[in-house]
Amino acid sequence: MKTNKKVLTIIVSMLIIVSIIISSIFIYNFKLFSIKSATMQAVSIAQNVRDGLTAHMVNGTMDKREQFLNNIAKNQNIENFHLLRAPSVIKQYGDGFEGESEASNMEKEVLRTKTIQSKLIETSKKTSLQISIPYIATSVDNPNCMMCHTALKGDVLGALSMEIDISDTKSESISIIFDILIIVFILIIISILVVNFYIKPYIKLFDDLEDGISKAYKGDFSFHIETTLTNEAGKVANRLNELTEIFKFKKTIELDENKNIIYNRIIHIMETNFQIKNFIFFEINNITKKRINIFNSTNNQNDLDEDANICRAFRTSTNIYSNDFDDICKNCKQKVNNYICLNYIIDDDYSLVLHIQADDKLELNRIQKYTPIISNYFNMAKPVIETKILLGILKETTLKDPMTALYNRRFLNELLDSNISSRVKDGFVHAMLMIDIDFFKQVNDTYGHDVGDNVIKKLALIMKDSIRDSDMAVRFGGEEFIIFLPNTTKSKAVEISNNINKTFSTESFTSDIEIFTKTLSIGIAYYPNDSDSLWKTIKYADEALYVAKNTGRDQVIEFKNDMHKDGENY
Ligand code: GH3
Ligand code: MG
Ligand code: MG
Repeated sequence: MKTNKKVLTIIVSMLIIVSIIISSIFIYNFKLFSIKSATMQAVSIAQNVRDGLTAHMVNGTMDKREQFLNNIAKNQNIENFHLLRAPSVIKQYGDGFEGESEASNMEKEVLRTKTIQSKLIETSKKTSLQISIPYIATSVDNPNCMMCHTALKGDVLGALSMEIDISDTKSESISIIFDILIIVFILIIISILVVNFYIKPYIKLFDDLEDGISKAYKGDFSFHIETTLTNEAGKVANRLNELTEIFKFKKTIELDENKNIIYNRIIHIMETNFQIKNFIFFEINNITKKRINIFNSTNNQNDLDEDANICRAFRTSTNIYSNDFDDICKNCKQKVNNYICLNYIIDDDYSLVLHIQADDKLELNRIQKYTPIISNYFNMAKPVIETKILLGILKETTLKDPMTALYNRRFLNELLDSNISSRVKDGFVHAMLMIDIDFFKQVNDTYGHDVGDNVIKKLALIMKDSIRDSDMAVRFGGEEFIIFLPNTTKSKAVEISNNINKTFSTESFTSDIEIFTKTLSIGIAYYPNDSDSLWKTIKYADEALYVAKNTGRDQVIEFKNDMHKDGENY
């Protein structure tokens, strides 16, 4: 059962139990009160009757007492009004009127015990008190009993019996109980409203916290606690939300492919979670002190990659707040008045610096409050980034040729297995250049294998220098290379090929024997113009290279369809 229902059930049950107890006590006391007041009424009537009869006796009008007794018996709530003579009085004055000498069981008990006897008679229609009151002979008043009666002092002279209807008091008590029930009902409604409006948010928060914590215990951080509370309880919920966000972040980045994706996630969190508009995110190489600008959303777009030593946060390995001293960092002060620089050392090789700019002091204070939680994100990311850097280096080595530092065949396989072919832009082509050194075997044979290696290394450098960062040079085989130029034009591909060809052919190589030069043959094919797959494009570039080899070498040849058909002729 949810806590909300539990609390309501407890409150309602308590109210019902309390109302039952109050009603029972009330019924009991009301009954006692009714009996007591009926008894008092009966006693008072009995006194009146005694005084009346005494007056009749003194006046010698005892034979006219009937009317007096009938008048009293007419009392609205009195029934079975009966005057009884005790045996001593019967003996002195006779039986009296009809019935005055016939005692009921209760009256016999009264005569015997000389005490008041009563009995409650309850039927579905009415409730009444049957009561019988003794008259005891006394000598106290004047005139007193002993003046006329021969009975001894203390003897019972008779009894007055009656039935007093107390149904009214019963219906009165029922109506009061009904009132109590209405009050209890209203209290239940009020409790439901109070629980819903004031206690429910706390109970909901408590339930959500319980759910959330048990999910977190199982490693599931997908929950977010919503609450309308803004007090301490609300803060607890926010803290837990922040923690789960951080754990979610950690779980996500662990599965990210590389550090750049993690950096992008951090940038996204800065913008969305903390609403930081203007910031620069730097990656710094601790060894070379080279600072790379990963992201920059500030107005200082000219703050490009530079020497990291100008950064106080990096230099001193501390966080810098302009709130402490507004010119604490001279470099930052030149750009902006309100700034925070947070420094995070990833490992021996890399550090990250987050330079945050604020429009005014208010904004700066708001951001400064977030710095502990921003640091939590970075501290969570640190070991993961470190691992990604190591994995990146490891992958790099498995995908690169150690002699030339160019990509190897394995990389080419991975590249062509990716969906890079679909990323060709309108009006552009992916160009494949197949490059082979002419008569290279002669180099080895004439000058030795080491000289041959130098020629290959030189060609690798020339290729790297001739292409863009987004282009890829691959050592395909011994002295065969492929250059992949994504999203280029045919003329650009030919231009690059000619440039490589020319630069290489004008390069002089030294050996023990002589200084010599070498030439290249290059075949080019284009995707998607020449073929429908990149593998076929490589094959067609190879066919073009074959033509270049067979028609004189030291030249660049673009693939043509007829080469493909008549390739066997060359
Ligand atoms: P062609 O103009 O037809 O290409 O003639 P070629 O002599 O260049 O062709 P071939 O394929 O017959 O010779 C390639 C030679 O490259 C054979 C091999 O010994 C040499 N080679 C392959 N890898 C290396 C290397 O890493 N270092 C050195 N020094 N030589 C290598
Ligand atoms: Mg060759
Ligand atoms: Mg070859």
